[in-house]
Amino acid sequence: MNFGIDDLPVRDELRGKSPYGAPQLDVPVRLNTNENPYPLPEPLVERITERVREAARNLNRYPDRDAVELRTQLAKYLTDTAGHEVGLANVWAANGSNEVIQQLLQTFGGPGRTAIGFEPSYSMHALIARGTGTGWISGPRNDDFTIDLAAAEKAIVENRPDVVFVTTPNNPTGNAVPPETVLALYEAAQAAKPSLVVVDEAYIEFSHGDSLLPLIEGRPNLVVSRTMSKAFGAAGLRLGYFAAHPAVVDAVQLVRLPYHLSAITQATALAALEHTDTLLGYVEQLKAERDRLVTELRAIGYEVTESDANFVQFGRFEDAHTTWQQILDRGVLVRDNGVPGWLRVTAGTPEENDAFLDAVRELLSFVGDTPTLPKEQSA
Ligand SMILES: *Cc1c(COP(=O)(O)O)cnc(C)c1O
Repeated sequence: MNFGIDDLPVRDELRGKSPYGAPQLDVPVRLNTNENPYPLPEPLVERITERVREAARNLNRYPDRDAVELRTQLAKYLTDTAGHEVGLANVWAANGSNEVIQQLLQTFGGPGRTAIGFEPSYSMHALIARGTGTGWISGPRNDDFTIDLAAAEKAIVENRPDVVFVTTPNNPTGNAVPPETVLALYEAAQAAKPSLVVVDEAYIEFSHGDSLLPLIEGRPNLVVSRTMSKAFGAAGLRLGYFAAHPAVVDAVQLVRLPYHLSAITQATALAALEHTDTLLGYVEQLKAERDRLVTELRAIGYEVTESDANFVQFGRFEDAHTTWQQILDRGVLVRDNGVPGWLRVTAGTPEENDAFLDAVRELLSFVGDTPTLPKEQSA
């Protein structure tokens, strides 16, 4: 018999569970994890090299534990782009927004406490809740993937969660949440508990609409989390951050590991922030490609969820997983997030998107007994 996880004295709530696992397959066109398809521009690579070389000279010392220079520059970026002035005291950074979320759940969730998200949404919220011993409540959405406000408010009133996650634009569906809805959820959460409301803006740079950052004013229990993994094209860097009332920044100090952000990470992120304008230029191209994917998929006959992100949810399929495989067979990796009937494709370069569109066009002429066609046409 194979010795496995369940033979170890692991925590009960981890038994029989699966880890986060987007397939990392070696195929020509990879449009499955919402990465930016453009490699960093050469001048930025040079600047990173310079900054890292400098940092390397001091690697005998621990890094700046409070990442003051980096947080100052992140605050400047937010102030310049999000329509609200924030400073060092409002901003905290960690290894990806996943670590930001982990620190928030370690601080505001934990054993005996609960968090709620409105699903389908970012699967890591539930997974990090589990990892931190926080109970998870799956809140509802409408069939069109908008948040059903009345049902969401009811879930908050009934469950009195300690942490409320609102992902906008939402992943994997792509749609943004209207500011009025976020405000209503915040009010409901304050009346019920009060609880911490985390607005996950991982994709906000790709949105047609504005950041909700200004809402942190006068709302000390509202946190806006961000990442450099998507718009900054730096998923390999692992740099996430949040903006909130300074008291929230003080609170997460209680759980953060000392020196969690390496000197190499801080140096690299600072170099990337020096090239913000170039990187945001790519974002404009990707937004145009995202809009093209929406238009062309609809023209082909697919259903598409409104997208404010760098990806598009399309369907509907009798069996999304079979379709996922058929697209993969044509050399294009998209994502099956487990949303019944739907798949998600990341906006890539124009060439990658053409390859994807060719593949899904081919599916429509596919003659066989496996269900690959959009529902309306499959009858
Ligand atoms: C990709 C993504 C993140 C980013 O996680 P990192 O740890 O910063 O790479 C956060 N939230 C959502 C909703 C995402 O889709």
